[in-house]
Amino acid sequence: EKKGLASSAQDLSPSYDWFQTDSLITIVIYTKQKDMNADLVIVDCQDKQLRGEIIMDDHSYLVEIDLDHAVSEDVAGNIAERVGKIEIILKKKDNVHWKNLGRPSEGHNTFIKRTDRGLFYRKCKLVSKTEVTHDTKLFCLMLPKGTHLRVPTGQHVYLKHIIAGTEVVKPYTPVLPFLPLDFQEDGVHIYLMIKIYSHGLFTQALDHLQIGDYISVSNPEGNFKKSQVQTSEDLLLLAGGTGFTPMVKLLNFALTEVSCVRTAKLIFFNKTEDDILWRNQLEQLALKDERFEVQFILSQPSKDWVGKQGKISPSLLSEFVKRSRRDSKVLICICGPAPFTEQGVQYLKDLGYSQEEIHAFTA
Ligand code: FAD
Ligand code: NAD
Repeated sequence: EKKGLASSAQDLSPSYDWFQTDSLITIVIYTKQKDMNADLVIVDCQDKQLRGEIIMDDHSYLVEIDLDHAVSEDVAGNIAERVGKIEIILKKKDNVHWKNLGRPSEGHNTFIKRTDRGLFYRKCKLVSKTEVTHDTKLFCLMLPKGTHLRVPTGQHVYLKHIIAGTEVVKPYTPVLPFLPLDFQEDGVHIYLMIKIYSHGLFTQALDHLQIGDYISVSNPEGNFKKSQVQTSEDLLLLAGGTGFTPMVKLLNFALTEVSCVRTAKLIFFNKTEDDILWRNQLEQLALKDERFEVQFILSQPSKDWVGKQGKISPSLLSEFVKRSRRDSKVLICICGPAPFTEQGVQYLKDLGYSQEEIHAFTA
């Protein structure tokens, strides 16, 4: 019986093979899993170092090799989605015959829990920095040429930087460069909307980066599943301050790719009018797409604010969080300062929403 168990675990593990022509090296990974897609394949090829990580649910398969010969930076990939076969195609710098693929690293050809695989970072170039509000900026980072990485909707990355001799790491959630929908990501640029705190350790350092400087960006992480949106009819997004960031790709995905979504409502909590991120774009989107609605709620409004005010509360939630039909399927996503998210989840449960209907974005 033990033997049977061992062999079935073996059967689940992907395997790989490689072959060459005069000019190309092709590495083929057989994931033995259907429904593979480009979001699940992360490739980094710099100099002679090749690293390919395949994400399979909560597991990760790694191909990591110090290649025998130099390859060019433009790495190509092919995914046969239905059969789960992935090809990584490298261009030889010199058209010589390779005797070996190279020297495998310690983690090469392992299939382990994602949480046991350390984060991998690559250096990305800061290509632009634009103002969003008085304290928030949109940073555009460019992935190196030999990197294939897409950050799935609802996931974040970690930025790493050395500050006063110490490595500091903080999570950030990629957004799109703007809201009006149908934006197709190019796979090269990563946009981050980051609030600069006047005494913030990391954000002060980020703010001091110059265009052309480099910063390390990790592989994506996060437990949000797109499938949660794919079955919902009413999408309710509760955001506090920069807790807005995961909502950007989520809205884009829901309104462009999910046909069952009937309504999408963003309830956006901020301190003052000046703090509202992308207010104009959100209002434009509401005019353009009748399924979308936005409600701004301020906790420290000026005297002339005629809109809603207050902090997250049972009464505000019962006013704005509603099903469009009595039996409609809802998904409520919430993100913001930890106390905001914690209170919000509790109030939603008190209002009768189930655990499955709520997704809280947390660390
Ligand atoms: P810190 O040095 O940690 O301090 C931040 C501010 O809070 C400073 O003004 C500081 O004085 C004050 N402060 C620190 N500790 C306390 C305390 N205990 N009580 C009161 N005040 C305190 N941020 C974004 O801007 N955009 C994003 O897309 C984004 N995504 C995130 C995704 C995840 C999963 C998580 C967990 C966080 C995300 N954040 C995001 C927050 C981000 O990771 C950092 O926490 C933030 O940028 C502040 O970092 P810092 O080092 O500059 O600030
Ligand atoms: P902020 O201080 O400007 O507050 C925005 C609004 O949140 C306030 O107007 C208020 O309505 C509400 N709020 C703030 N503190 C509250 C409290 N103690 N109780 C109830 N409501 C409260 O927010 P900010 O400076 O933009 O901070 C955004 C937060 O979101 C950060 O803590 C950041 O770490 C977090 N964040 C988390 C993720 C994630 O976990 N995936 C992603 C992005 C941002």
